[in-house]
Amino acid sequence: MNKPVVGVDLGGTNIKLGLISPDGEVLERNSTETRAERGPEAVAGRICDAVLGLLARAGLDRRAVAGVGIGSPGTIDLQAGVVTFSPNLPGWHDVPLRRLVEEGTELGCVLDNDANAAALAESWVGAGRGKSSLILLTLGTGIGGGIVLDGRIWHGGNGVAGEIGHMSIDPDGPECGCGNRGCLEAFASATGMVRRMKEAIEKGEKTSLADQAETLTARRIHEAAEAGDQAARRTVQMTGRYLGIGVSNLMHILNPEVIAFSGGMTGAGRMLMDPLLEEADWRTMEAPRRDVKICFAELPEDAGIIGAARCLMLA
Ligand SMILES: [Zn+2]
Repeated sequence: MNKPVVGVDLGGTNIKLGLISPDGEVLERNSTETRAERGPEAVAGRICDAVLGLLARAGLDRRAVAGVGIGSPGTIDLQAGVVTFSPNLPGWHDVPLRRLVEEGTELGCVLDNDANAAALAESWVGAGRGKSSLILLTLGTGIGGGIVLDGRIWHGGNGVAGEIGHMSIDPDGPECGCGNRGCLEAFASATGMVRRMKEAIEKGEKTSLADQAETLTARRIHEAAEAGDQAARRTVQMTGRYLGIGVSNLMHILNPEVIAFSGGMTGAGRMLMDPLLEEADWRTMEAPRRDVKICFAELPEDAGIIGAARCLMLA
């Protein structure tokens, strides 16, 4: 394929677009508000307008591009090109987004999950460049993820593989948003870290955050830890240890070449990564650990649009 592709990263707040070259370079960008409250058809219309606007800005006819790749939050019926359900897009049930965008732009279109698309981008031109397998964990309110094997997204039996945040790591752990107990996400997401810091405050641990229990954020905990707050520091480090347990499980099961982390919590840097590596190292057998690169993602801004475009290139 020697034509560029439009990559669309549909988010709950903004729609980001890029014109992506066949070798993964971002040639042109565009973005617009999602306005999800107006409903799926209106959002699809906004995507189409933004795609056509992007082509106009680049001075390209629609025949000059190979098509449109879309990464959407939520669960996707890949064959049908339908967003079956998306917690980030209220009211979205069984939305035929691929058809709506194909009709509105007269371009061929593919649809995949946004976390899968981001993992594919990292594997292609980011932290996994030159390798064929990568697992991406996105650390935010929850823990999302995507698995790339042999250069392609691993979708699983019915398209929902990559729910890395919901691996159980403690049989009696806290309740998770999925209804299970003790998921990785319940411990090591931003929400999980805030909950553990609140518990430390309730136990009476000495901390500068004692009077902020109701307004805590992951960033605030990290800042306090940087400023020398020992309870906050232990909380961040313990988050790294939980992630290390998850990473060890992934290495044993899939033996990937790269495991990368993205999302707001990666701002904690070495304070998070050092205990993560220590935990992963001692828990993992020598062979699956030996050549694995465990690192932060390299495309924090563009992974969504590049990966969505790549989905179309591989379709
Ligand atoms: Zn869960």
